[in-house]
Amino acid sequence: MDYQKILESIAEEVKPLVKKGKVADYIPALAKVDINQFAMSVITIDGAEFHTGDTKMNFSIQSISKVFTFALAFRELQDRIWSRVGREPSGNPFNSLIQLEKENGIPRNPFINAGALVITDMLFDIADNPRQKLLETIKLLSGGADISYNKLIAESERANGFRNAALANFLKSHQNIKHDIEEVLNLYFCHCSIEMNTRELAKSFLFLANGGVNPEDNHQILTLSQSKRLNAMMTTCGSYDEAGDFAFRVGLPGKSGVGGGIAAVIPGKLAVAVWSPGLNAKGNSLAGIKALELFTTKTGVSVF
Ligand code: GLN
Repeated sequence: MDYQKILESIAEEVKPLVKKGKVADYIPALAKVDINQFAMSVITIDGAEFHTGDTKMNFSIQSISKVFTFALAFRELQDRIWSRVGREPSGNPFNSLIQLEKENGIPRNPFINAGALVITDMLFDIADNPRQKLLETIKLLSGGADISYNKLIAESERANGFRNAALANFLKSHQNIKHDIEEVLNLYFCHCSIEMNTRELAKSFLFLANGGVNPEDNHQILTLSQSKRLNAMMTTCGSYDEAGDFAFRVGLPGKSGVGGGIAAVIPGKLAVAVWSPGLNAKGNSLAGIKALELFTTKTGVSVF
């Protein structure tokens, strides 16, 4: 399969869409990102790499970080996590409060903000310094030695994080946040602020294409079963209230973020990361989804 040729034709085809979305503007630090950018990287589990576009540009991974926090919690706490967070798609916006009240403070899944806050809380039970542990894990997976939290973005998230604070407080009222709310929110804002480029992002998802094992160093991150389950959850819950349409159009387990990044995997084959900061109404990259749709169409491969 000539992935390079396919990526180049996709980049050409999505060009008209790149300017059509709207960059995230809930915080000033993201609102000033130049919309006119597109990058896509494919890395196979054998280590072959294919790139097109602005693949050296760092962007805010935002909610994609929820995959890494979830993987850490799932690895350490295993099925104990399910008493505090569900695994059903929410069908609601990622920052919605509405289901939490009806469902007694148990978030629908770990990839909406409420669920991710519960997972972030769990990280304090599995590491003395969860901030450092998370970053080390991401550096190891992505090969990006200089990956770090972006202080400006994290600060900006904190200054405007009223909804996330409301979610955390509501969860705490149901005893579903065990640690200090401020500490949990700070770690949550930090992990949302992590920056990567598409190459690093694709690389960091390769373990999910390879049964939980990082193909680069054979390090087992998750068991085969955990990796399968994480992928199932990305398929059903990885793009908020657009997960159904993402499955319909793209047909891969994937996770999006409001920074305009999306990472996805074809189990047994490869990881693919795409970035274009213009978002659609659901908060997913407009050109990014189209690019992934074209990728599975042109390669003829999807999990379905
Ligand atoms: N930092 C964002 C928030 O908490 C992340 C949302 C996202 O990428 N969907 O609202």
